[in-house]
Amino acid sequence: MQDILKRLGIKALNAGVCSDADRWIPGAGAELASINPATNEVIATVTQASVADYDRAVAAAQAGFEQWRLLPAPKRGDVIRDLGNALREYKEPLGELVTLENGKIREEGLGEVQEMIDICDFAVGLSRQLYGLTMHSERPGHRMYEQWHPLGPIGIITAFNFPLAVWSWNAAIAAVCGDTMIWKPSPMTPLTAIAVQHICNRVMAQHGVEGVFNLVIGANDVVGERLLNDERLPLISFTGSIGVGKHVARTVAGRLGRCILELGGNNGIIVSADADLDLATRAIVFGAVGTAGQRCTTRRLIAQRSIVDELCARLARAYQSVPIGDPMAEGVLMGPLVSESAVEAMMAAVERARADGGEVLTGGRRLPDIGANFVEPTIIRMPAQSPLVCEETFAPILYIMDYETLDEAIALHNAVPQGLSSAIFTRDLTRSEAFLGHAGSDCGIANVNIGTSGAEIGGAFGGEKETGGGRESGSDAWKAYMRRQTNTINFSGELPLAQGIEFDV
Ligand code: NAD
Repeated sequence: MQDILKRLGIKALNAGVCSDADRWIPGAGAELASINPATNEVIATVTQASVADYDRAVAAAQAGFEQWRLLPAPKRGDVIRDLGNALREYKEPLGELVTLENGKIREEGLGEVQEMIDICDFAVGLSRQLYGLTMHSERPGHRMYEQWHPLGPIGIITAFNFPLAVWSWNAAIAAVCGDTMIWKPSPMTPLTAIAVQHICNRVMAQHGVEGVFNLVIGANDVVGERLLNDERLPLISFTGSIGVGKHVARTVAGRLGRCILELGGNNGIIVSADADLDLATRAIVFGAVGTAGQRCTTRRLIAQRSIVDELCARLARAYQSVPIGDPMAEGVLMGPLVSESAVEAMMAAVERARADGGEVLTGGRRLPDIGANFVEPTIIRMPAQSPLVCEETFAPILYIMDYETLDEAIALHNAVPQGLSSAIFTRDLTRSEAFLGHAGSDCGIANVNIGTSGAEIGGAFGGEKETGGGRESGSDAWKAYMRRQTNTINFSGELPLAQGIEFDV
């Protein structure tokens, strides 16, 4: 562990605020310990920001913006290219630090860093494609077009379960768009954020730029609230739970700021009677057990009545063979939950499911012999989609329900408040097209014959309803980080008015 920390510049006690190129401020707020969820041991400690520390960092982001926005976008892309290259260099220790601090298995920790690298590559290309449209004016001798300008310093608030990838989806795109940023990471994963800031500092120094990437680690009620209410930040990109997301939306809307909201998911998979059950089983297990169920993952399985027993049996067998243990160890596929309170929330959900008539097919228990916060991945066959199933419990619980007709399955699928990702397993084109059609899945992501998690950065990521409606990475998500300006240029020597209005003076 010490070797990983050393390579990433993490000390026993770390400053929690960084602004300008490499100005670390030992925050005047309370100290925060970063805990390894597999052992409950302290990895290292961070001094959190006070409001004054936060204000200094935002001032640096503002000053940085004045310069950064004037750099041509392809030159900003050069900086992001080097950030991607630096991340390639640090992929191993950074991925391992994710595992230490968050508990996801090493393979997934490394995958997160790869996602950062991928989005940097994507953003470099994007830096030459921030296209605006031209329109035909109704007035002779006039030219109309729209262009996209940098928006300002923006706020990025991230969740514990993707401590790196979510920041990078925002940061790489925002940076090529000409924005500077303040990052407030989850208090559960401050060290990964500090490690990334060290890497950003190195890249900024290489290019002689300052104040593009800034970090503020601080308490929700001190720094978090200040950030939401900060009129200097025209955009807050928030990833987290629905409850906090609603508060973020209300607060930022109250000052007419903009939000990108990436909130809770409660993803469902429909398995049709004609599906390839082998394929479906593998995808469901990865979706529901991966990241110990602590991701926007598969929580609901809606299986056609004639195959549900067979599918349950296959899944139960697969679940019982999942190697659970030290997330750093080779071959382990499931690590711990992030904290004792996450374990308690899972156990409470299992009890509630039983009370609702659910039958636990496998799992449902703690695994204290392995270490701290370990649990069994759990499958529960439910008689109906009860209110519990409509909530997101951030744990490896898969609820299984059955259906008779596809209309019934789609109705059940859509009858939850969240709308992130969804999938159908079928070999029948009419069924898959019905699922993808206007009356099909109501989610931001809808897949056929692949699971609901593990999206690629090339596609816009986000969801509908209580998932918040935001989109990050991929496609045209960049527009959220810029302001659009419509320009009309008159080269006619006359002054014709739009809509043919006559106004002679
Ligand atoms: P959380 O809502 O507890 O915290 C998210 C972030 O919000 C943290 O950085 C936290 O410190 C901050 N925060 C909390 N209160 C705040 C306040 N008053 N002001 C400002 N910031 C505040 O979520 P979590 O437990 O870290 O993450 C899990 C949740 O995130 C799940 O619901 C999951 O579905 C969701 N999530 C969604 C996506 C997505 O893309 N849709 C991705 C990852 C996680």
